[in-house]
Amino acid sequence: EGKRIYREFHSIRNTQMDPDGLKVINRLNRYGYKSYFVGGCIRDLLLGKKPKDFDIVTNATPTQLRKLFSNSRVIGRRFKLVHVVFRGGKVIEVSTFRSLPEHRLDSSLESDDMYLKRDNIFGTPKEDVARRDFTINSLYFDPRNESIIDYTGGFEDMKNQRINVIGDPDISFKEDPVRMLRAAKFAPLLGFSMHSACAKGIRKNRFEIAKANSNRLLEEYFKIFRTGKSAKIFGSMYETGLLETLMPSAIAASVERAEPGVPFEDTPLGRRLSIADRMLAEREDLTVDIYLALLFCDLVEDVFAVDRWKREEHIAEYVKSRLDEACSEMKLPGRDRSRLLQIFISQIRFRSETDGRRKNRRTDAFREKVYFFEAFMVFKIHSLAEADDEAVQRAMFWEIGPRSRPPESHRMISLFY
Ligand code: ATP
Ligand code: MG
Repeated sequence: EGKRIYREFHSIRNTQMDPDGLKVINRLNRYGYKSYFVGGCIRDLLLGKKPKDFDIVTNATPTQLRKLFSNSRVIGRRFKLVHVVFRGGKVIEVSTFRSLPEHRLDSSLESDDMYLKRDNIFGTPKEDVARRDFTINSLYFDPRNESIIDYTGGFEDMKNQRINVIGDPDISFKEDPVRMLRAAKFAPLLGFSMHSACAKGIRKNRFEIAKANSNRLLEEYFKIFRTGKSAKIFGSMYETGLLETLMPSAIAASVERAEPGVPFEDTPLGRRLSIADRMLAEREDLTVDIYLALLFCDLVEDVFAVDRWKREEHIAEYVKSRLDEACSEMKLPGRDRSRLLQIFISQIRFRSETDGRRKNRRTDAFREKVYFFEAFMVFKIHSLAEADDEAVQRAMFWEIGPRSRPPESHRMISLFY
């Protein structure tokens, strides 16, 4: 059974929970269902941080939820979730306790296997936490008496500031290699250490990360960029050996340009990410493609050396040949690839054109390009990271006017939810 930690022994109160989330749970309780807050929100509240979202679980099925909440809709193809919609369109996501880990669900619903019939995917609170990644992400909060329910030792691990896999790390990481990346993320993000079994598990299974679904990895990268601590997190990914497997060419190029033995944050890549993180904290608009470009700068370092290029076709060929492999390694979607090409190919213009101040038709046309903003930010961050004073001066000439903010179509990254 789960261990209860009563309100006297921890600091989380209903007043800190999402009020609409509380309404959902209260209504479910009134109708005899179990329902709790779960996961990241409990972890963050115990750390005194503001949760990003409040996940809710229950033993009510999606069909039962739909009946109970008139303002709700069922979403998801694989595992159905229910969105309860509140005034102003605010959505509370409710999921039914599950019995199977994600990857087994993936295949299960597409196969006819008896065992994998829909009913079997619903589980108990205990089964639901068993399929999660880390003990600190597996705590429930029961608003009825403001108690925490702990099936995995997560409360103790929170106290010890330790990241610990649920079950055998070897099995867990093989089952879902993305978890290794999440461990490498949470350690610096929360200021926690890894339990030795977890660290060993990553060491042993780090090459498995190559098998992970590329869209899920991309999603994790985007989340990492959004933390505003990407330099630290990429440092941790580097130290665990994951980064080298995830993006071998980009990392090789970066390591080659770094002083031997310097910590990751002092490598060219580490410095660029630190600068971007700082800009994000200062509410600068950054996009996914800016961050992706920052990962690849060392691969195409020659684009930043203006004297090398006589003709734009040459630079385009160079960028294409250097980026192709790196993009394939990460299975980047076509739209990101072509944006990265544009960003790098246009770097030469920040130096070769007279400057951004002077009114000039060519310059104006460049400023109007959809990729101008991103190209400019990459130029600026790269110049700062390389402590290239002349380039930094140039960046000031080009400093963004009001019409050069990123267009709506760019996928924005923000620290503020
Ligand atoms: P944050 O949203 O702040 O990044 P989170 O812990 O809420 O952190 P989510 O990705 O929103 O992370 O996932 C919600 C919950 O789902 C987690 O707390 C964890 O319990 C579980 N979870 C997420 N990813 C995995 C995974 N790869 N394997 C197992 N469980 C996972
Ligand atoms: Mg979350």
